[in-house]
Amino acid sequence: MAELRTFATAPKAGEPAVSRPCPLCSSRAVGKRWLAQGVEFLRCASCGLWRQDPQPEPSAVAARYDHSYLAYETARHLEYRSIALKSLAEAGLEPGRRPDGGSSILEIGCATGALLSVFKDRGWSCAGVELSPELASYARSTFGLDVQACRLEEARLDALSFDVVMALHLIEHVNDPRAFLAAARRAVKPGGRLYLITPNADGFQAWLKGQEWRSAIRDHLYLFSARTLGAMLKAEGFRVESARTWGGWPAGMRPRWLKKPMDAAVKRLGLGDVMVLRARPA
Ligand SMILES: [Zn+2]
Repeated sequence: MAELRTFATAPKAGEPAVSRPCPLCSSRAVGKRWLAQGVEFLRCASCGLWRQDPQPEPSAVAARYDHSYLAYETARHLEYRSIALKSLAEAGLEPGRRPDGGSSILEIGCATGALLSVFKDRGWSCAGVELSPELASYARSTFGLDVQACRLEEARLDALSFDVVMALHLIEHVNDPRAFLAAARRAVKPGGRLYLITPNADGFQAWLKGQEWRSAIRDHLYLFSARTLGAMLKAEGFRVESARTWGGWPAGMRPRWLKKPMDAAVKRLGLGDVMVLRARPA
C-alpha cells in the first residue's frame, strides 16, 4: 500500500512537557532509547511499550492542529480513504457489509469525514469526533455528518450505543491512551467491535531503521506493538480478536525487486509496518 507522510508540525518554543511512568505497567525502568526529531522515545524495560518522554501537555498537542491541518487533510483525504478501506477490510470491516442487527458507527479522529461518508452512503448511522474544529466543520458541511469537535473523553455520546467504533492512526497521538480506550469501551455496544490502526513498533521497518523509522516522529506520543496494544486493550476491558499487519520493504529502498516478496513475508509473520487490531468488549 502507498506510504503517506503523517501530519507533522514544527516545534513550538516553550511547549510545556512532562515526564510520566509507563501507562501500561507503571514502570519507570527504561530499556532502549531513540532520539528522533529532537524528542526522545523510551522503551519500557518492563513491558516493551515505547513512549515519548517527556511529552507535550494535551493543550500543546491540540494547538498543533491549526489551519495547516485542514489543507494537509483535504489534499490527501481521498487517497487516505482508499488505503483505509483496504486496511479495514483486512480486519473484516466493510461499508457494504453491516453487522447483524445494527449499523451504527463512530469514528474517533474522523478528520474531514471522507471515510465516514462512505459508510453513510451505504446506510450506516454515523457519528464522528474530531479534535480540530475546522475539520469537524468541514465534515459537517461537506458530508452532512454528525461530528463533535472535541476529544473522545469529552464527547456527548450515548453509552454502549455503537456497533462499530474505529480510530485510524490516532491512538499513537493521544496523551492518555488508557483513558481513550476506556472511553471507547463505554461507546461500543456489547457484541460490537473496536478497530484500531496504528504503526507497528515490532515490525521489520522499525527494527531495520531504529530511530530513523518513519513513525518515530514528534507527533507520535506512543509507539505500540500488537503485544503492548493488546495488553492495554485487555486492561481496559477488550478482547483482541485479530491483529494483522502490512508493509515491509520501505518505499524507494533498493533492491526494489525485494519489495514484493518482503511485503508478503512480513505480512505472514506479523512484522508489517502498520497494524489493524479488531477487539470486542470482554
Ligand atoms: Zn511498561
